[in-house]
Amino acid sequence: MSLIIVGTMAFDALETPFAKIDRVVGGSATYAAYSASYSYAPIKQISIVGGDFPQEEMEELAGRGVTCEGVEIVKDGKSFFWSGKYHMDMNTRDSLVTDLNVLEQFNPVIPDSYQGAEFLLLGNVMPSLQKQVISQLKKRPRLIVMDTMNFWMDIAMDDLKEVLTMVDALVINDSEARQLSGEYSLVKAAKVIRAMGPRYLVIKKGEHGALLFYEDKVFSAPALPLEEVFDPTGAGDSFVGGFIGHLAKSGDLSFENMKTAVIVGSAMASFCVEKFGPIRLKEISREDVNSRIARFTDLSKFQASVL
Ligand code: AMP
Repeated sequence: MSLIIVGTMAFDALETPFAKIDRVVGGSATYAAYSASYSYAPIKQISIVGGDFPQEEMEELAGRGVTCEGVEIVKDGKSFFWSGKYHMDMNTRDSLVTDLNVLEQFNPVIPDSYQGAEFLLLGNVMPSLQKQVISQLKKRPRLIVMDTMNFWMDIAMDDLKEVLTMVDALVINDSEARQLSGEYSLVKAAKVIRAMGPRYLVIKKGEHGALLFYEDKVFSAPALPLEEVFDPTGAGDSFVGGFIGHLAKSGDLSFENMKTAVIVGSAMASFCVEKFGPIRLKEISREDVNSRIARFTDLSKFQASVL
């Protein structure tokens, strides 16, 4: 079994009400790969970076079983750059700068060694690129999971809708689900979005947890009540990385196991927000992840009766 992750590898500048950093490694595929690597390896990464992207970061990823054969390095180019500023509630943010840089010339080519992968994560990147990756795979993966964001809904909705017809699962946040469906109720939104293609839909609600929709079933996962959210950047990518990492590891696509995958994703996201960038994701151990998953179980376990 193997897992392909597609997305950005980037530099970010971040500002929260409490702290600021001018340059930290980020990108959807970076967060997703670090997160998934706690459950599964090898991970086959597809992205593009400039000559400015740190070699140490590539080595760190390689040490965790992330193959970068599919990461194009444009020696005289600049990596994708994104800058975001969070509001007081930390659930909403403004994108201040999105400099595509080398992403503008990205033409993903799937190495032969990546063919035959059973799991594909289309991380947040231009929908046309997501489509290009799917169309190069000689054998359709067992599971294709897609992430996206409002930015692409604003400028590439037609392409995005086409990719939706090609995937099994979509993972987005509540405001994106509302924008995509035109419905305020998340239950109605889920119906509309699932009719666009994906059988499974996960709607993340920040500090309020996540909902998983499949057929007529719904699963509600809590978010861990954290005393402090230091930097929410990458929480979504860490969630989807943990989600697909667990599914790739277990190979079990039942609804019951999807529920577990949502909890693993939630646990990884809860670590991510504790420090700037992917720093926290790099320093935790598998034991840390397991004990956090156990906290999620305790958090929502109860018995009730009126008898
Ligand atoms: P998240 O907080 O999970 O939405 O992910 C934040 C990461 O996504 C940052 O590290 C950014 O570099 C990256 N990012 C921001 N905007 C985009 C975009 N339009 N396309 C792809 N990646 C992006």
